[in-house]
Amino acid sequence: MTQSFQPPKRILMGPGPSDVHHRVLEAMARPTIGHLDPAFIGMMDQVKAMLQTAFFTGNALTLAVSGPGSAGMEACFVNLIEPDETVVVCVNGVFGGRMKENVERCGAKAVVVEDAWGTPVDPDKVEAALKANPGVKALAFVHAETSTGVESDARTLCELAREYGALSIVDAVTSLGGIPVLVDPWGADAVYSGSQKCLSCTPGLSPVTFSDRAVEALAARKTKVRSWFLDFSLLTAYWGGGAKRAYHHTAPINALYGLHESLVMLHEEGIEQSWTRHTMMHRALLAGLEAMGLGLLVAEGARLPQLNAVLVPAGIDEAAARTQLLQKYGLEIGAGLGGLAGKVWRIGLMGQSATPRHVATCLDALEDVLAAQGVKLPTGAGVAAAERMLRD
Ligand SMILES: *Cc1c(COP(=O)(O)O)cnc(C)c1O
Repeated sequence: MTQSFQPPKRILMGPGPSDVHHRVLEAMARPTIGHLDPAFIGMMDQVKAMLQTAFFTGNALTLAVSGPGSAGMEACFVNLIEPDETVVVCVNGVFGGRMKENVERCGAKAVVVEDAWGTPVDPDKVEAALKANPGVKALAFVHAETSTGVESDARTLCELAREYGALSIVDAVTSLGGIPVLVDPWGADAVYSGSQKCLSCTPGLSPVTFSDRAVEALAARKTKVRSWFLDFSLLTAYWGGGAKRAYHHTAPINALYGLHESLVMLHEEGIEQSWTRHTMMHRALLAGLEAMGLGLLVAEGARLPQLNAVLVPAGIDEAAARTQLLQKYGLEIGAGLGGLAGKVWRIGLMGQSATPRHVATCLDALEDVLAAQGVKLPTGAGVAAAERMLRD
């Protein structure tokens, strides 16, 4: 007979999911109640309020889409983009490419602004594209490109969108909780995130927020939203309806208990403190990597603290190293994607995985697997450098 599944013990330091705190797992194990139960509605209102705080927004349309980050991405495009419209899409990694795919599936035209993988979106090129295409409906870009570890200048890009009368659609899946995501101060219009990156919840929920301008654009559509499930004009009656909540779909009740708990934890720590912690752990990891002769793909100034694309040294079998990390240490790190396959490791320091213990464990294990492939390193140099950085 098939037995219960018992997952192996892992330390999650890849591009997501990150380690989930036992408080979140315990919250998810609490009894399931009805999704129209007044107690559940009260909890959803708290989730919405905590998301507004995390996003730095007063947007009334703020909710968690019942689906992973990709569902939040799709929700933004299907609600805002109509056939034959034009969208400027910035592509500097895997996720920008997915935004382009979404635009095309909405029957719209994607004007692509390309930048090399490992570099941020170039605002000058974006401005040129907006200028060359009057009447652009939206500018879409990825704030934190998880495929490369690059941060783009979201404030400047959102301001450019406004200046040219376009909506901004921002992928903040990996940024929320790890670095500032300032929806109202930036004037961002449609922003989506994910539960399993710096929020350290389980995968499967996507926080999304729409500005009043985005809500107006949705209301002014000439055609029906092509997705019934993701149609925000229907979903808002569910998330925003209060006691008059209308049935749309059955919310993933226990998953939302988990998101609620992870947001409680974020606010207990303080969102600014969470950003600081991510930055400190990044600095410590980098000091350790450099002490071991390793470097990052991304230039200083554009590096994401929560996603470190580490250049694989020449002669190293990067896949064998990852396999050994997993088998010997239970440590998961990510592989390179697309053109970066075989060239980088992606080390995540997201949410609960951004701690001194994670940094030290990773450096120590990495030293061991590099030594196994013949790299000569002074014993403990990486961990010592990281600890020095955290002491100073
Ligand atoms: C992880 C990720 C997504 C997709 O999220 P899923 O939860 O895997 O669907 C989208 N964009 C970025 C930048 C991501 O890192």
